[in-house]
Order: sequence, then structure tokens, then C-alpha cells
Amino acid sequence: MLRGKTALVTGSTSGIGLGIAEALAKQGAHLMLNGFGDPDEIEALRSRLARDHGVTVHYHPADMSDPEAIAALMRTALEAFGSIDILVNNAGIQHVAPIEEFPVEKWHAIIAINLVSSFHTIRAALPGMKTKRWGRIVNIASAHALVASPYKSAYVAAKHGIAGLTKAVALETAEHGITVNAICPGYVFTPLVERQIPDTAKARGITEEEVVKNVLLAAQPTRRFVTIAEVAALACYLTSDMAASITGALLPIDGGWTAQ
Ligand code: NAD
Repeated sequence: MLRGKTALVTGSTSGIGLGIAEALAKQGAHLMLNGFGDPDEIEALRSRLARDHGVTVHYHPADMSDPEAIAALMRTALEAFGSIDILVNNAGIQHVAPIEEFPVEKWHAIIAINLVSSFHTIRAALPGMKTKRWGRIVNIASAHALVASPYKSAYVAAKHGIAGLTKAVALETAEHGITVNAICPGYVFTPLVERQIPDTAKARGITEEEVVKNVLLAAQPTRRFVTIAEVAALACYLTSDMAASITGALLPIDGGWTAQ
């Protein structure tokens, strides 16, 4: 369905981004991967995706907290593909701590990676989308774009920011065949969630098992983690032509969390 289209997925060496990248490749999209990891493992991933799905797959290691590195990523993608048809802003990090103890450098890193990087990628990708009169921007926000939790001040601020950015750019591009949406997942069991369990246990003074049962899954009426495949399927739907009238939307996929 996406045969011949090109897609850039930031933070696609792990978790949700990797799931979305693979789902897009399965539909025929050529890929630009990005993210951190062991270079040999990333090269193995790049060549496997190309082989399994018969698409061109490139990789760029840009640090999404660095505007110059992002500019280099966008230049490389545009040179490789001519234009980026599908932009998935997914790279993200988390840090859990009470605000008085929140490390200043973590605050800046979370705002830079989870919010500001999307400003840079979007503004570089839009001219090509406008020329083609077709484009899909999918921002991976969070249930934390809609509601807050304690001890996640930077993350909640960044995710609420990406919600606003999504709506503003959707309005600016609505007559150009471009849609801009945010997916707002609840808890998905990825390395990002796994890593925050010990800090949440410390911040709340409870055990790691209690964090999973009484904090993470307690937020979700379904009492189960959202799966990467479920988020990837929604992202693919948003890139389809049948989703042309969905723009500026903040779409929860959170097991009922934000319905409460
Ligand atoms: P993850 O840790 O598995 O993957 C994060 C990806 O981002 C990795 O590829 C990593 O290398 C990359 N990354 C991190 N910092 C980067 C940087 N400075 N530059 C370039 N790449 C960088 O995490 P995930 O859970 O898959 O998270 C992906 C997105 O989904 C994030 O934006 C996160 O906020 C969002 N999200 C996750 C959940 C969840 O429960 N896992 C829920 C809601 C939203």
C-alpha cells in the first residue's frame, strides 16, 4: 500500500519506533532509520529490513538533541529519497524524579529530544511534502500528552508540547494534502518503560513489582500493556489514503487510561 513512498522514523533502533519502521517497510515504504545502539546490530537490522521487505533502508545516527545533527539527518534523507513522504517523530527518553530533584540537564535533554527535535524535522520535511501535495506526519506523543503523572514533569511538559505542535502544524498544512497527528500510547513494555521502573520505585518508596502492578498497569483499565504491534498498526492506518481526513488529532491507544 505504501510502495514507492519514503519514510523517516526517528528513534527506530528499538521499541515502538522499530515496530513502526518495520510495519511501514512491510507495506513497501523505503526507510531512513535513526537511533542509538551497537553499530553492528544496527547494520544487521538495516540489512534484514531491506532483505525481508524488498525496500531500500538507510540509517543515520543523528543525536536528536542536536539541531546540527538533525539538519545532517534531514539533508541525508532528502538526498537519498528526494523527499520524505512519511515522517514519524518517535525518538524519546524519560526520567523520573520529583521536580525539586530533577536534574537540570535531564530536563533540557527531554525537552530537546521529545519536543524540539520534531520542530526541526517537520520544518525540513514539509517543503517536499507540499510540492508533492501528499504527506503524513505522525508524532509519537503519549497518554502524558493528555494527562499528567507525578515525577515526570519534563516528559509531561514535552508531550503536552508535541500535542500543541501537532495541532498547529495540522492547521498550517490542511490544504496541502498533508496530515499531522499524534498517537498517544499508554504503557508499552519497551526498554524505555523497563528502565523507569527502578526510579519510580525509589521516588514512590515501593517495590519494582508494585510499580508494574500498582502504578503502570493500574493506570490502564485493561490491566495489560499496549503492544508495539497495536501502535504500529495505528501509525500505518494514519499513513493510508483512507486517513486523509484525520488531521490535528491526538489519538489515545491506552487501554482506557485517559477515559477515566
Ligand atoms: P525505547 O527506549 O525502546 O526507544 C527509544 C528510541 O529512541 C531508541 O531507538 C533510541 O536509540 C532512540 N533515541 C533515544 N535518544 C535519542 C537521541 N538523543 N537521538 C536519537 N535517537 C534517540 O523507547 P520506546 O518506549 O519505544 O519510546 C518511543 C517513543 O514512544 C518515545 O517518544 C516515548 O516517549 C513514546 N512512548 C512510549 C511509551 C511506552 O510505554 N513505552 C508510552 C507512550 C509514549
